[in-house]
Amino acid sequence: MVDFSEKIEALSGYLNGTAKRIAIVTHTNPDGDAIGSSLAWAEILRRKGHSVTCLVPNRFPSFLDWMTGIEEMVVAKEHPEEANKAIEEAEVIFVMDLNKIDRLDSMSEPLLASSAPRILIDHHLMPPDDYTLQFSYPELCSTSFVTYKLIEATAGVEAITPEMAENLYVGIMTDTGNFAFSFLTPDLMRGVATLLERGLEIPKVYNAVYNAYTASRVKLLGYSLGRKMEIIENGKAAYIGLSEREMRRFNFQLGDSEGFVNYPLSIAGMKMSALFSETHKFIRVSLRSRGDEVDVNIFARRYFGGGGHKNAAGGKSFVSLSQTIENYKDAVAEYFAELGIKE
Ligand code: 5GP
Ligand code: MN
Repeated sequence: MVDFSEKIEALSGYLNGTAKRIAIVTHTNPDGDAIGSSLAWAEILRRKGHSVTCLVPNRFPSFLDWMTGIEEMVVAKEHPEEANKAIEEAEVIFVMDLNKIDRLDSMSEPLLASSAPRILIDHHLMPPDDYTLQFSYPELCSTSFVTYKLIEATAGVEAITPEMAENLYVGIMTDTGNFAFSFLTPDLMRGVATLLERGLEIPKVYNAVYNAYTASRVKLLGYSLGRKMEIIENGKAAYIGLSEREMRRFNFQLGDSEGFVNYPLSIAGMKMSALFSETHKFIRVSLRSRGDEVDVNIFARRYFGGGGHKNAAGGKSFVSLSQTIENYKDAVAEYFAELGIKE
């Protein structure tokens, strides 16, 4: 394993000299961490004189619309030619907040065809060997915090503007569930303290992200918990399954079901929760667990062709919603039995 300072040197090697054309790409259904880390890193690179394009496979949820710089993101699904061109022409490519390249959807192909150095900045477990250089830190809470560490080591924290501090904080706040999940280290809190010194206003960011929902979204949440949440395994597992029709009834907008999967975990004794949301192509699977016992990264890999982290993971299912739910129940029974979790 190459140590951090050697990697920083290698990174400088790719960026020093002439100004470069750089593409920053992140995962499908981009979340606060994907967007926050991309925008902050883009701004740092621009200040070094590089020309940077940020790309996402599909649109980001509207509760992130206010983030500084987000309007410049190229949404590949809406502008495929522009996206392909930016990737083809890039002299350096940064891949943010994902490890498996297939999470780039339609951008995977041009990315794999490019011979530009491909640099990973991420915090997911088990990154594949697909990168020229990797800043992969599964022990850090978010890619935004990895990005913060990179900024600290390259440009220095003085380079962080209030807007960058906000963008980085969005990723840290959303990936830690507003400082409720794991990886809450003293070092992270020192980083947040530095962001405050650089002009971050925490209530502004919190309100912009968490108190900006539509009435339909809040009603869909009520419906999901009141009518759709099912509890299995004697109170130790739960799931919510939402059909396309149900979501349409609540005027579903992208990102509206974000966070729903966490609510069942607020029940005492609950170990694992799942949200199944139907799209026209597949069932999106979102998984959460609490504590060390249930590892949803393993569960997602084994049963839903996905992955993620120990306590937050996801995948896809290509059978019907009801069949997906049956498969989930069987999978939970099998996995819990293996772990020795008694009913
Ligand atoms: P969410 O439930 O918020 O969509 O995803 C939680 C985490 O699971 C994400 O941070 C991501 O790491 C992972 N994840 C979600 N969907 C997939 C997927 O289809 N494949 C893989 N490999 N990881 C996923
Ligand atoms: Mn993340």
